[in-house]
Amino acid sequence: MKSNKNQYTKICPKCGNIDLPIKTDFVEILAPTPEKCRKCGYTGLFPEININEIEEFRESLK
Ligand SMILES: [Zn+2]
Repeated sequence: MKSNKNQYTKICPKCGNIDLPIKTDFVEILAPTPEKCRKCGYTGLFPEININEIEEFRESLK
């Protein structure tokens, strides 16, 4: 069943952690600061994925 709307979240491509700092301030958009994974310390580009695909993504990391 798909009752959820399509929601996207950033995910760490290294460990699959989604507990990332959320940056929504306009200042951040103008001058983006590197985001860092709180779990594995990865910094860089965090892809956005559909929340329904998080489990799938994590499976692919194994
Ligand atoms: Zn990570």
